[in-house]
Amino acid sequence: MSWTGAGCALAILLSLTMVPTNLEAKTTKTQVTKAPFGRDTDGTPVDIYTLDDGTIQARIMTYGGVIVSLKTPDREGKMADIVLGLDSLDGYEGKVPYFGALIGRYANRIAHGEFKLDGKTYTLPKNDGDNTLHGGTRGFDKVVWKAEEIANGIQLTHVSPDGDQGFPGTLTAVVRYTLVGNALRIDYSATTDKDTVVNLTNHSYFNLAGQGTGDILKQEMKINASQYTPVNANLIPTGKLAPVAGTPFDFRKLTPIGERINADNEQLRLGKGYDHNWVLDKPAGKMGLAAEAYDPGSGRVLQVFTTQPGIQFYTGNFLDGTITGKDGKVYGHRFAFCLETQHFPDTPNQPSFPTAELKPGQHYHQVTEFKFTAR
Ligand code: BGC
Repeated sequence: MSWTGAGCALAILLSLTMVPTNLEAKTTKTQVTKAPFGRDTDGTPVDIYTLDDGTIQARIMTYGGVIVSLKTPDREGKMADIVLGLDSLDGYEGKVPYFGALIGRYANRIAHGEFKLDGKTYTLPKNDGDNTLHGGTRGFDKVVWKAEEIANGIQLTHVSPDGDQGFPGTLTAVVRYTLVGNALRIDYSATTDKDTVVNLTNHSYFNLAGQGTGDILKQEMKINASQYTPVNANLIPTGKLAPVAGTPFDFRKLTPIGERINADNEQLRLGKGYDHNWVLDKPAGKMGLAAEAYDPGSGRVLQVFTTQPGIQFYTGNFLDGTITGKDGKVYGHRFAFCLETQHFPDTPNQPSFPTAELKPGQHYHQVTEFKFTAR
């Protein structure tokens, strides 16, 4: 072989060896690492995974599928952790208001802790006055999920046995967290072996200025919804869809969260602020923009895309300075907001709402993306 021939062969060899590396870089950009995070009170080991795509860094633990921290850049590229959370596992096992957790089997409230399905009444534990909230006393936020690494993230699996927290059917829930295109994407899947109801979400508490830095009243919110579901004194929807126009619930334009939060309004009094479900304008079942939040101070923007029909906008009204979170930060009143994509609260008792039923043979699949940019 001549030198030219050898050079040519080397060039081909080099280009061949480079192809798979490039492809890999494109398809699995996110680095995933795993570390132990202690054991729960049952002695089950808990791991924490770090997902890092060079722009966003998310730490997610197998207990409750909790997003423990989420770091994103501001307009200057400065990173901050923008979700509330706790430093260690034992805190999460105690009375904590669902910081970052996966919620199931049924996100938000079910009135009187019961519902009827196929003519049968199912009774659930009441953990919110007369209601069942976020799946009961031991919901999906209080179990250790099985985890495996997948391209760009992790997959969590939990099998909830028939009758778990009173719900019918063995429910196999699979949740994927991946970092794709400036977004933390959450894919929720579930199957059942008996007719049941299901409503899965994530309960992250966001503060775009950085966790524990102050209240979120100057941060701005936009919700792509012309209607919301007003509630009664127990925060259960009345069943009506009310127009947002002309009310403090109109977030169709970016508006500071605090601008109308203390307005003279019966619904705001009942929720002690915003704690309501908005009926999204985008077509049901189709991925679309549900909400956008903006922090004028840091420039951080959070856009929420989802396939779900509703979103709970909750302004941390029950935070009162009694919880000390990560890095010794004390979480005061309205120090964060939640944007929980969901089927409407109490749907199992509300025939006019989009159904939350899941039957054997059907595949529940909902997607939510939290996309982070800065301007
Ligand atoms: C509910 C609030 C509740 C919070 C934490 C939200 O989804 O709507 O009423 O306080 O979760 O428990």
